[in-house]
Amino acid sequence: MSKSRKYSTKDPEVKSKNDFISSDFEMQNDISKEIIRRLRIQNKKLLHQIEALKAKLKIECSNTDQVNKRLSYAMVVNNRLSEALGSCNKCWGEDHNCTSCYGKGASGWRPINKRFFYLYILPSIENFNGDSK
Ligand SMILES: [Zn+2]
Repeated sequence: MSKSRKYSTKDPEVKSKNDFISSDFEMQNDISKEIIRRLRIQNKKLLHQIEALKAKLKIECSNTDQVNKRLSYAMVVNNRLSEALGSCNKCWGEDHNCTSCYGKGASGWRPINKRFFYLYILPSIENFNGDSK
């Protein structure tokens, strides 16, 4: 078999193989295009999911921020009331394992803060006395 004959397209056997290879290549090319098309669709869906998750995360962070602000405010009020009553601000005398008061921190346990007492407690006492008369 000569070299020119081996690669000749006039040779029916070579032509058949070339056609087969060409057909196979086109089929592979079509499959690749279909895979790329599907991956683009998946990619688009994933990008939409990422955007939705980003929006959700932004809302969650905002909610967490609000919860933290409310907790902060509750802690401030807790400490003020505790000072107004002279109680332990950690357990109010209800926890024997409290490292601050060992369960003895009920009202009157420590000196009161008069400003907070007049602000938060006295109005209630006056109201209570007014109702009881
Ligand atoms: Zn305590």
